[in-house]
Amino acid sequence: MPAAQPMPLPLYVGRTTRVVGPQQNVNPQDMPHARNARGELGKELFHWWHNQPSKDPLGRIAMGIHAADGRNVVTDAFGKGKGKVNSQKTPVSDPAVMAQHIKRVAKFMGADAVGIARVDPAYLYVGNLSDYGTADDDRGDPAAQAKRYPYAIVCAVAWDYELGKAHRHRIGDAAYHFSQQWENILLQNLGAYIRELGYAAIPRAAAPMPMAVLAGLGEVGRNGMLITEKFGSRVHLYDVILTDLPLATDKPIDIGVEEFCGECRKCASTCPTNSIPMGDKVVHNGVEKYKVNWETCYRLRPYVHEFWEICLTCVTVCPQHQTQRLVA
Ligand code: SF4
Ligand code: SF4
Repeated sequence: MPAAQPMPLPLYVGRTTRVVGPQQNVNPQDMPHARNARGELGKELFHWWHNQPSKDPLGRIAMGIHAADGRNVVTDAFGKGKGKVNSQKTPVSDPAVMAQHIKRVAKFMGADAVGIARVDPAYLYVGNLSDYGTADDDRGDPAAQAKRYPYAIVCAVAWDYELGKAHRHRIGDAAYHFSQQWENILLQNLGAYIRELGYAAIPRAAAPMPMAVLAGLGEVGRNGMLITEKFGSRVHLYDVILTDLPLATDKPIDIGVEEFCGECRKCASTCPTNSIPMGDKVVHNGVEKYKVNWETCYRLRPYVHEFWEICLTCVTVCPQHQTQRLVA
């Protein structure tokens, strides 16, 4: 198996998210949902999270927290990545061939785009995101974890184009939620397949967005979302799989998002909460990027819950949202 090489610094993560200084690893317990679950974001959001089943039955079966009975949410019933690794290892003589194979398998299982990143410790979580994974996977020690699992498989599942246009509506919610469910199912199957090949498949350990950029799936837009060449931002990046399966890796791509977002401000001018900057990039946690205010975006949710759940305007108004139609 090829040895893990340390990533050169500054790490190249494409032109849209230039690394200009040291980065702190993200603790998932500081992320919006975790903070809200602990009641740190105020009563309205806490109530929305804990006590408000969705008005829409499709919404209720898509997301555990908004189901009347969480057992109706199919992904909540999974084993969640705790299967054992087969002790009979399948030998890998050519990581490039294995990478092609894994991409084909992921697409067969439902991925719309797949890339493989060399794991950089900067993008591994410290602290637990959930009870997924095992106790001995070096969680909380990014350097050790990156050495042990040098490859990240990143899959994206696209929302339906026509349904996604009906954003700020139950129909748009369904397009969004079910692409997440499908990706969750795909990742469970792909992780199980890798374990049966005799290699580790570690879920819920890495930040999907920078891993997707490293894996060449797209660039980061002014809207703070991954912009892919074929689907624009209308993709779900639910999670990535870390593995020790030897794989050839991809590189960041350049599809012109830097120039496009420098001129276009459509997401910023249509955002109902003014959470997207009209101005220039700033440096945040060592990365030069457009900094979206997640908190003002997130705080909208309890007030619209009666009518719809997820805003999505910054994705669906984006001119790059339509690219699949143009190239189809
Ligand atoms: S989801 Fe809506 S509120 Fe949030 S940043 Fe996008 S446009 Fe703004
Ligand atoms: S709407 Fe315009 S500025 Fe916003 S992400 Fe899309 S291309 Fe970039």
